Amino acid sequence: MQPTDPPLYDLVIIGAGPAGLAAAIYSAREDISTLVVEKAVVGGMAALTEVIDNYPGFENGIGGLELSDKLYAQAKRFGAQVKTGIDVQKIARVGDIVELTTKKAPLQARTVLITTGSTYRQLGVPGETEMIGRGVHFCATCDGPVYRGRDLIVVGGGNSAMQEIMFLTKFASHITMLVRGPELKGSAILREQVSLLENLTIVYNTVIDKINVSDDKVTGVSATTNNEGVTYEAPGIFVLIGLLANTGAFKDSLTLDDRDFIVTDAHFLTSIPGVYAAGDVRSGSTWQIASAVGEGVSATLEIRTYLDNLAHAERHAKRAATA
Ligand SMILES: Cc1cc2nc3c(=O)[nH]c(=O)nc-3n(C[C@H](O)[C@H](O)[C@H](O)COP(=O)(O)OP(=O)(O)OC[C@H]3O[C@@H](n4cnc5c(N)ncnc54)[C@H](O)[C@@H]3O)c2cc1C
Repeated sequence: MQPTDPPLYDLVIIGAGPAGLAAAIYSAREDISTLVVEKAVVGGMAALTEVIDNYPGFENGIGGLELSDKLYAQAKRFGAQVKTGIDVQKIARVGDIVELTTKKAPLQARTVLITTGSTYRQLGVPGETEMIGRGVHFCATCDGPVYRGRDLIVVGGGNSAMQEIMFLTKFASHITMLVRGPELKGSAILREQVSLLENLTIVYNTVIDKINVSDDKVTGVSATTNNEGVTYEAPGIFVLIGLLANTGAFKDSLTLDDRDFIVTDAHFLTSIPGVYAAGDVRSGSTWQIASAVGEGVSATLEIRTYLDNLAHAERHAKRAATA
């Protein structure tokens, strides 16, 4: 095969979080020429996580950075190329090839796997970023069980906050729910379920001003409730004000759901042939590291079949042309 400019990869994976790195381990190990491009740091959201307690195989938990390093080293061991500082801006299918526009050089691939994840919305108040994973949390499934028998504050008043509260209430002794507006927003069923919880107090018209920290531990929040400064105390704060899909680069080319997550079929295939999506960015994902890893692997097995069929069709066409 003639070399092309830009080089043609069998697979370009966009995003080096758990889903992308797990996919790269499988594809590179099977000699599928693989490039992983990442706009920020290798490891994705998992790398930001202080301790991961629910990833199978680590009975005492594992640091997010350590897990990311292990996934990265394993992908490199099998020959995956990983390039950071590459922000993909657009993709388009041209004939049998997918062209990727980046802020740097363009890329070409026979198949693309999108694993760009999602971003938790933050309050943007002092103390929040510094205490992520150490008293400030965004995911009840990930960190809720740590607060068994303790008090919690939940910030948010929409569907996701109410759903997560139904889960948190199994562990926390009491939850104070701080809601920005004068009422809860979202499903009537959830509002009804939440209103029946005995260990929940809902406080409306509340804006968070600051996360309070003492001796490097979260102690609660300072807030403004009905125009008055109030302090709410708890060792854990769940900020549940939304999750944004990292799909800005694909909104003109792929089918997205009503929350901008990428729609795929059961084979992880998007609305463009040869373009797959896995992990947190996929509509219907469960936003967990173990599922992101599993989805990355499953998508790669589908990609392998697609590439095998493509190679078969190319051989067939060549034979027909020379016959
Ligand atoms: C504080 C915190 C704690 C968590 N704790 C847990 C936990 O205990 N257990 C658990 O199972 N899950 C936890 N999670 C969730 C978990 O981190 C995610 O489910 C998981 O990281 C998703 O993996 P992913 O590969 O799909 O996406 P991500 O990890 O989000 O990775 C996506 C990557 O794509 C990159 N990217 C995005 N757009 C582009 C682009 N246009 N071009 C190039 N690169 C791009 C991003 O920079 C990122 O590195 C936690 C999340 C957070 C934030």
